[in-house]
Amino acid sequence: MQALTFGQSKARMIDPNDQSQRVTFKDVAGAKEAKEELSEIVDFLRNPKKFLDIGARIPKGILLMGAPGTGKTLLARAVAGEAGVAFFSISGSEFVEMFVGVGASRVRDLFLMAKKNSPAIIFVDEIDAVGRIRGVGAGGGNDEREQTLNQILVEMDGFEPNEKVIVMAATNRPDVLDPALLRPGRFDRRVTLDLPDRQDREEILKVHSTKKPFAEDVNLKVIAERTPGFSGADLYSLMNEGAILAARENRTTVAQYDLIRSIEKVMLGPERKSHVLSKKEKEITAYHEAGHALLASLLPYADPVHKISIISRGRAAGYVLHLPIEDRKLQSKKEFLDDIAVSLGGYVTEKMMFGDLTTGPSNDLQVSTALARDMVTKYGMSDMLGPVALEGQEGKALFGRGVEEKSFSEKVSADIDAEVSRIMKEAHDKAERTITENKKLLDAIAVLLMEKETIERADFENILVAHGVVPKKKLDIEHQV
Ligand code: ADP
Ligand code: MG
Ligand code: ZN
Repeated sequence: MQALTFGQSKARMIDPNDQSQRVTFKDVAGAKEAKEELSEIVDFLRNPKKFLDIGARIPKGILLMGAPGTGKTLLARAVAGEAGVAFFSISGSEFVEMFVGVGASRVRDLFLMAKKNSPAIIFVDEIDAVGRIRGVGAGGGNDEREQTLNQILVEMDGFEPNEKVIVMAATNRPDVLDPALLRPGRFDRRVTLDLPDRQDREEILKVHSTKKPFAEDVNLKVIAERTPGFSGADLYSLMNEGAILAARENRTTVAQYDLIRSIEKVMLGPERKSHVLSKKEKEITAYHEAGHALLASLLPYADPVHKISIISRGRAAGYVLHLPIEDRKLQSKKEFLDDIAVSLGGYVTEKMMFGDLTTGPSNDLQVSTALARDMVTKYGMSDMLGPVALEGQEGKALFGRGVEEKSFSEKVSADIDAEVSRIMKEAHDKAERTITENKKLLDAIAVLLMEKETIERADFENILVAHGVVPKKKLDIEHQV
């Protein structure tokens, strides 16, 4: 490592002229969408003048989100490598270890250095270590953390419009980040890195096999098929373990058998989180998602699907990116009702196929019940209660402001519950009916999902057409369920 530390900062810098350390997009397999999103940043860093001359506002901060080992650090380095600019990196956890009062001054140093070397990228790894919501969380060193975080925000806010420095940060816990970090002009661009699907896994294995002599029987496709839930880092270790096994047994090439044995080794390895789906879980998840997708395609007012995947999203469990309805567009009652039915698609399908329920649909139920409640209490979409808004934007009662907690009578409260139950029940029945009538389509989607793990829109529409369903044209909105 020719990385150097400088000044007061513990940060490391990678010189753009150091070819041995250069990483480019070619080194990052899969991650197609993430690379596409970041290519704009590469363009800017390569030729900032073009953008500045025309007065374009370039994002200052990009947040990379994804499970450990999905290639966040690698991708940030690749952006610097593609653009040929200096790369300054520091980890949030290093700030935490520092003496009190040092964090803020190191941040200042870091930004100063980067500006001197601009165009440049500053990469703050594990930003959640300093960027947790202020005033809560584990005690100890909180003040230091806050000052460090404040300094990062001050530096970012203080960027001149012509500053050619882009701040990238990575986290696997976007849910705990201080909202101040996510405001416009700060980390307002977010790029998600998902765990790789089968195809991506094969490509990652290929990237890490270039320097390894393989026996003829090696079949990376088979290895990719057997490693659902593996991250890029896991696949890298797998290849490495395989080579170690071969060397230990004094062979000069790595055989398929070495790689197969390494799968288990990596799975049981110390750092592995247990996110590997068992075969049964995979089947349940495939049917669950197929249920959503089927309803989204068949119910007339639901938003169509862009992509289906049974690879868990690269975010912490329980994190849902739901665009606020108000910002999205005007939504109608019919759309809401179909949306609720789509949300229940996973629940209905699990019950129907396996005669049992998992905790999987829990979030779906929460989201759809909340929506049904909003229909009744905010949007006047219940015939029984009529055109009244019983709750304000934040779920606070509108009446009796500041006087009583409870603003409507027991009777109204019971009516709301009854209406919500009725809406949910009707959506459930509609979902059940539609899925039952289209069981063959459901099977086809689930089977393909189990095989490929991710289905892109084109392939999905082919299944629909093969089952006599005309794909919808309205494709501008991604449906996230
Ligand atoms: P993260 O920062 O998300 O935890 P890293 O970028 O540190 O993950 O990835 C660790 C290693 O795993 C990388 O150095 C690389 O060897 C491998 N890796 C991860 N993702 C990929 C990928 N998409 N393509 C190739 N290698 C990858
Ligand atoms: Mg990392
Ligand atoms: Zn679901």
